[in-house]
Amino acid sequence: MLRQLLTPDWLATTTLAQLPLEQLLERGIRALVLDVDRTLLPRRCTAIPPVAEQWLRHALLQLPIHLLSNNPSRHRIGSVADRLGLPYTTSAGKPRRSALRRVLNELGLPPSQVALVGDRLFTDVLVGNRLGLFTVLVKPIDPHGLPCRHDRLQNLELRLARWLGTGTL
Ligand SMILES: [Mg+2]
Repeated sequence: MLRQLLTPDWLATTTLAQLPLEQLLERGIRALVLDVDRTLLPRRCTAIPPVAEQWLRHALLQLPIHLLSNNPSRHRIGSVADRLGLPYTTSAGKPRRSALRRVLNELGLPPSQVALVGDRLFTDVLVGNRLGLFTVLVKPIDPHGLPCRHDRLQNLELRLARWLGTGTL
């Protein structure tokens, strides 16, 4: 049970900005729920990297996107969302399910047709798997849109998940 909940459907080796969108579309994904901090916004940055913005604008031509952040700052999250005209949720309380449930209701799609993309195993992947979404763990993003060279937190989470018995990670 725990093993399944902490195993992303897709363990990406790239950041969101290099994630092949076609592979999500091909497997029937029709909407995206995206984490913001370190998935779109690098740490200590207030602007998303240009390559990540390009990725988002391209993706938006194909499917709806909702930003779901645990960060309480409407200023930080809202400024990214407003720039792209995206709906967003702050203080989402991941891995609790209530905020994500509301987003799923708004989207009006079965969870299996919605991908949740984030950089954290114990918040993003866990809440997505709890509700049956297609979960994608991406590398934390740096200001150039590339994987952070030091992502101690995700490495720690992956080690902890392995220790808890999620054998496929
Ligand atoms: Mg994050």
